[in-house]
Amino acid sequence: MNENKVVIIGGGLAGLTAAIHLRKLDIPVILIEKNSYPKHKVCGEYISNEVLPYFQWLNIAVEDLKPTHINKLQFSTISGKTINTDLPLGGFGVSRYALDYFLFQRATADGCEMIQESVENINFTDDVFTVTTSKETIIKSKIVLGAFGKRSNIDIQLNRNFIQKKSPWLAIKAHYEGNFPDDVVGLYNFNGGYCGVSKVENNRINICYLASYETFKKHKDSAVYQREVIEQNLHLKHIFQNTQLLFDKPLTISQISFEQKQPVENHILMIGDTAGLIHPLCGNGMAMAIHSAKIAAEVINNFSKEKIKSRATLEQIYTQQWNKNFKNRLRTGRLLANILLKPKLSNIAFRIVMIAPFLLPMIIKKTHGKPITISA
Ligand SMILES: Cc1cc2nc3c(=O)[nH]c(=O)nc-3n(C[C@H](O)[C@H](O)[C@H](O)COP(=O)(O)OP(=O)(O)OC[C@H]3O[C@@H](n4cnc5c(N)ncnc54)[C@H](O)[C@@H]3O)c2cc1C
Repeated sequence: MNENKVVIIGGGLAGLTAAIHLRKLDIPVILIEKNSYPKHKVCGEYISNEVLPYFQWLNIAVEDLKPTHINKLQFSTISGKTINTDLPLGGFGVSRYALDYFLFQRATADGCEMIQESVENINFTDDVFTVTTSKETIIKSKIVLGAFGKRSNIDIQLNRNFIQKKSPWLAIKAHYEGNFPDDVVGLYNFNGGYCGVSKVENNRINICYLASYETFKKHKDSAVYQREVIEQNLHLKHIFQNTQLLFDKPLTISQISFEQKQPVENHILMIGDTAGLIHPLCGNGMAMAIHSAKIAAEVINNFSKEKIKSRATLEQIYTQQWNKNFKNRLRTGRLLANILLKPKLSNIAFRIVMIAPFLLPMIIKKTHGKPITISA
């Protein structure tokens, strides 16, 4: 086996984007993804336009997926008080079902070797990784990218800090048909969580909420929780009463952790949620996943061309760049979530923003980056 192939573990947005970028640089890549495509994922499916120049450079024609174009935010508190504002940069709505599959097809066409297996073990000895899958496929490589998402069996194998703690968050998502404006992303607060609503391709409405386990566990199931907690916000009540579910049942994930993670662990460069998950209310996790893939692909390219001389320097540069681009966004996301989830604080914050509406775009900017440009 050629050890010069970069091994990417996980084929979500981060892993697939890194694969496409590395193939553009003619670097051989193996991507290991445990699931098949296409597949629905729990996600708000609103992507910041900051990815567009980078997608253009990678020749990823996202317009082919017929996304919606979103440039307005509607925000409401539990009591239904509402603010409408323009989004400074805007974004687009596309389902993960369509987008991940599109990128998978593109990475395959570009010559990325795909393995559909689950990685069970990563060992680093004598400057070489040995990656072992559930089917006992063994791959040796000089470089491994960790793109295995917010929570994986590999986090346990690596004994990462965040995985030791129970997380109080779960999330539920489904697609619906009904009426909702194409150009708006709604963010609606309820007791114990918040819900994002926006349109994706094919006129579908994506409704995705994050809820605290504490409030959820008191109710029998998600239908009762929706009726008794979420629909206390009258905006959400109106939306749910005027839409029809298009899935057999909503998708649920639990144990979502927003704890700090490290961008490099056991010499693996972590990208996307594997390096850190921003609170979904910021609507920036996907752009960050894509951006971190770019940073990793660039440093790997410099390492392979020996512009970066050692593994220690590679890891140091990647960590610096990751922190520079994302650390403050994650911090702001945690702060905003803390305010939003405390009714008294969120009411005070709402009143301040009503008096000074120019503050809202400023806050949004703090959780987002600038359009991703190409340095090489
Ligand atoms: C409720 C919620 C709403 C959100 N809404 C938005 C939003 O509106 N806008 C936004 O920008 N961001 C949003 N996000 C964040 C966004 O979903 C993530 O940041 C994004 O999916 C990160 O992509 P990723 O590639 O890092 O991870 P993922 O897309 O999760 O991909 C990880 C992949 O790794 C694979 N994998 C895991 N373990 C293994 C293994 N052992 N072997 C092989 N493969 C493995 C998985 O199958 C998966 O395909 C939201 C997040 C949540 C929780």
